[in-house]
Amino acid sequence: MTPGDEPACDLAVVGGGLAGLVAAWRERQRDPGARVVLLEAGARPGGVVATERIDGFLVERAAASIRRGADAIHALIEELGLCEELVAADPAAAARRFVLHRGRLCAAPAGVRSLLSTPLLSAGAKLRLLAEPFVPARPQADETVAQFVARRCGAGLVAPLLDAVVTGIFAGDVERLEAASAFPRMTALERRHGSLLRGALAAQLGAAGRAARAARTGRPALTALRGGMQQLVDRLCERLADAAVAIRCGARVVRLAREADAWRIALAGGESLRARRVHLAAPAWAAAELLRPVDAALAAECAAIEAAPLAVVAIGVARSQVSGDVDALGFLVPRAERRALLGVLCESSLFPGRAPAGHVLLRAMVGGGRVALPESAAAIARLAFEEAAEALRIAGAPRLLAAFPHRPGIPQYRPGHAARVARVTARVTAQPGLSLGGWSWSGIALDDRAREPAPPAVTPRA
Ligand SMILES: Cc1cc2nc3c(=O)[nH]c(=O)nc-3n(C[C@H](O)[C@H](O)[C@H](O)COP(=O)(O)OP(=O)(O)OC[C@H]3O[C@@H](n4cnc5c(N)ncnc54)[C@H](O)[C@@H]3O)c2cc1C
Repeated sequence: MTPGDEPACDLAVVGGGLAGLVAAWRERQRDPGARVVLLEAGARPGGVVATERIDGFLVERAAASIRRGADAIHALIEELGLCEELVAADPAAAARRFVLHRGRLCAAPAGVRSLLSTPLLSAGAKLRLLAEPFVPARPQADETVAQFVARRCGAGLVAPLLDAVVTGIFAGDVERLEAASAFPRMTALERRHGSLLRGALAAQLGAAGRAARAARTGRPALTALRGGMQQLVDRLCERLADAAVAIRCGARVVRLAREADAWRIALAGGESLRARRVHLAAPAWAAAELLRPVDAALAAECAAIEAAPLAVVAIGVARSQVSGDVDALGFLVPRAERRALLGVLCESSLFPGRAPAGHVLLRAMVGGGRVALPESAAAIARLAFEEAAEALRIAGAPRLLAAFPHRPGIPQYRPGHAARVARVTARVTAQPGLSLGGWSWSGIALDDRAREPAPPAVTPRA
């Protein structure tokens, strides 16, 4: 390399969603002298995370809340000085959860005792559930969530309950998600304790469990940021700007090539730059396009990650229009109900201040592979409103109705995901200065993004 070819930066982060922002932030913390540039294709950083104020409603396009026990994202919020912006969900509302069952809202079980009394499960399913501690532990690598739960707890739990819960998180099919990748804590209980119930009990009663419980006592079940998750994005961008990280929006990376000891990064529009390291924090399907000329097999692995398209639909109505129960967290919809609706959260009951006085803000989610999402946002919004209005008995037209489609959508960890991640990691490691991050690989929640490490430093060649 001649002196004139000196790379313009030490690290280029591709993708300015939360994964990319956190990776850039961690890099600056590890090496304050590093020259870092973040390249985001869209007009603004944040990726799917975005908050809008519409007609007095505070609307989240994607992530809206953080569950108790999501320690990494809470730690990041603290680190960024945003603790005072954290708001706790109303405990009474957060404790009231429903499942749509034969067209009616039915209280969702919240623990083992309520599982045994819920009308959602048959008597046989309840008896089988009690036998779970006696089922021999036989962890299997690429078992689906449905297979795992059916093996441990009985198939009677899957359609009425598990399906709704899993769809509420992944917008995906319980029969086609790998248990160990989608719910690693659940499968770890079997590996460590031989049983889910015994594991859950040990977590409650053991020394570590007691300490964790004491630390969490008084912590709300759900938290959010007063001004929405956009605050997290904005604060990260501020900190990165203070640390002289260049955030470039409208900078779509179209090609990557290895050149001597650096990467040549080509942007749409013809510009190109060189960086010693590249961290791909774009979703796997976008990374696949960039990696094809670098390593076709690695690109094929990335392209194989599927996604479930879905839409968030914000519904704002006057309180007087609603006869159903909205003083609650909301409800989930199992596949057996044959709706497009995946679930509805009662945002303004959980987090006051999200709707104008006398109004209610609901957040419906539709799609997730259950139905093909209509092309137009208006048609998606109508579909979601019709189904939500029927379940919650809403009369008349909404004051706010806005749909935010997410396509390709939420990454789906299909059976074989963990093995794929291992193959991808091996191939990426063989490319000096290349790393991957983001929700296609290791967990889909904000908490998983907050756990993303700084991209590895390049090992100098011997
Ligand atoms: C509807 C919905 C609801 C959710 N709710 C919650 C919740 O309540 N709680 C929770 O914890 N989590 C939730 N999540 C998950 C959470 O939002 C994600 O884990 C996280 O935001 C994903 O961040 P990311 O950076 O990995 O991906 P993304 O946000 O997808 O960011 C990737 C970025 O890469 C950019 N990019 C792509 N290709 C290129 C290219 N060639 N060049 C440059 N840039 C490129 C994209 O423009 C994008 O900005 C939700 C997600 C969705 C979709």
